[in-house]
Amino acid sequence: MEFGEFADAAAKIEALSADTEITERVTTLFGAAGSDLPVIARFVQGRVFPAWASRTLDIGPNYCYEAIARAAGTNVSAADVEDRLADVGDIGEVAASYEFGGQQGLGAFASGGTTDSNDLTVAEVADELDGLAAAEGAGSQDRKIDALFGLFNRASSEEARYLARIVLSEMRIGVGEGTVRDATAAAFDVPVEAVERALQVSNDYGEVARVARDEGEAGLAAMDLELGRPVQAMLAQAGTVTDALDDWDEAAVEWKFDGARVQVHYDPSGLDWEAEDGTGGGNSLDSDDETDAREVAVFSRNMEDVTDALPEVVEHVREHLDAPAILDGEVVATDDGDPLPFQEVLRRFRRKHDVAQAREQVELDLFAFDCLHAAGEDLLRSPLAARHDRLESILSAGVSSLWVTDDSEEIAAVEAEALDAGHEGIMLKDPESTYSPGRRGKNWLKRKPDVETLDLVVTGAEWGEGRRANFLGTFLLSARTGDEDGRADGFETIGKVATGITDEELADLTELLEPHVRTQDGQDVEIAPTVVFEVGYEEIQQSPTYSSGYALRFPRFVSVREDKDPEDADSLARVERLADQQ
Ligand code: ATP
Repeated sequence: MEFGEFADAAAKIEALSADTEITERVTTLFGAAGSDLPVIARFVQGRVFPAWASRTLDIGPNYCYEAIARAAGTNVSAADVEDRLADVGDIGEVAASYEFGGQQGLGAFASGGTTDSNDLTVAEVADELDGLAAAEGAGSQDRKIDALFGLFNRASSEEARYLARIVLSEMRIGVGEGTVRDATAAAFDVPVEAVERALQVSNDYGEVARVARDEGEAGLAAMDLELGRPVQAMLAQAGTVTDALDDWDEAAVEWKFDGARVQVHYDPSGLDWEAEDGTGGGNSLDSDDETDAREVAVFSRNMEDVTDALPEVVEHVREHLDAPAILDGEVVATDDGDPLPFQEVLRRFRRKHDVAQAREQVELDLFAFDCLHAAGEDLLRSPLAARHDRLESILSAGVSSLWVTDDSEEIAAVEAEALDAGHEGIMLKDPESTYSPGRRGKNWLKRKPDVETLDLVVTGAEWGEGRRANFLGTFLLSARTGDEDGRADGFETIGKVATGITDEELADLTELLEPHVRTQDGQDVEIAPTVVFEVGYEEIQQSPTYSSGYALRFPRFVSVREDKDPEDADSLARVERLADQQ
């Protein structure tokens, strides 16, 4: 296809506002694309490379302005281009405002010299951009500018408009991923769901469009995950324990590690992967030869290749993973076992030099929590619990623990441990759910931190059992009555807290409270209002269980408010106000 024809279609699409009309136009464009279909499916989104590829044009905006300026004539400078851009705010508009084609020199093609040359094809633009991305080493930036100049110099105004936008990944014609998906399905008469699934496993809009056209639904169904090619990570929504237990029979609970997301690909017989320089960049065990295929690749959440920056992960996988696999997990920076702020990991991701030295300063640990592929089998459609079992069967160290339970107390205990260990809290996942790449659905919930805490008075407790028989536990909590700002004239019960308390704290709390025990009835004791606990919770509910008429959902011990007397504890009036605000 002529690039002019593509630019024309892009202009028509840009002029539309209704989604259905846009999809129709893109559908027509795909139908007419011929062998350029994969490129066009990317160009309409302003992409040059497949979404999974780490490759970029690696050309800063300034170089693009420079190329435009050179193609525009001797009296135009990059600064002029930038000034116009500041005025109009769209590099496409700026590029279209110049007359190109008169410039000679390095990179100006033989056809340069005509102002409206129609011979620039989509394939040529794609090839040039491909070559430009591959340029490396001394003088590569100049060669990139030359190549771009050559393209602009052959472009008509309309072509320049879309060329500039593609180069700077700012297509802005209203075509998103969903449009390309729907247009692919419509153009080649295949179900949208089949396109969607193929996109999830391949992350390659161009290839999916080609397969849809040439091989139909069966071809799409045959597209699988490929070792070495990253897929988008499944994402989480904010949610509560209440949401999880209301929606699912049981919840899978994991620590929410405070690190950075990674996707690890491993194949001991070599990943199907090519390094930027085409050598394969080996990292196999017995290799001192760069041309060996590598066994491990590590990708960040945005699918950037971070393998070289994380040799610990590469080593860990080689040592502990038994089968070709794709793992999802979190890398955490630690100091003597304690997690460091996640910025430490991100710093390592960016590290290109002196990795060995950085490694001495900060230890990195992998916590794998999911398994997308194992030993030749794609697991995206298996339930989470089964995927986790599979993960445990192939990885002998560094697997995150997973608890499946419908007991909110147990969930609270996991959360307390996670917080104690210095991590962020917990993730709640539907144990039956499949893995949906790139989706932020309701199947993974990151537990929202408590919005507010309440300071409540301890008015009762229960003696523990077994190992905890000598300790008071399960503390009965009360809010004071009276005005919100006034003094207490009584206490009304509102809930019990048993979680979030370590054995050590239980001993201290027993020592603190035992002198104030008023009466005892079996394991239950009544305690004179003396001690104030700060308590976290997820929700305040109306409930006949307690004398206040309210109950706390998912209460969690935070601390003893030693600085507060019972009279300063939170009032029932405040509880009522918070309940109303929910
Ligand atoms: P968002 O994903 O909402 O854009 P974010 O990247 O800041 O935000 P969070 O929302 O805080 O991350 O939580 C989701 C992230 O938590 C995951 O992307 C992952 O990096 C991290 N995480 C830590 N532990 C787990 C776990 N056990 N399961 C899934 N994700 C986990």
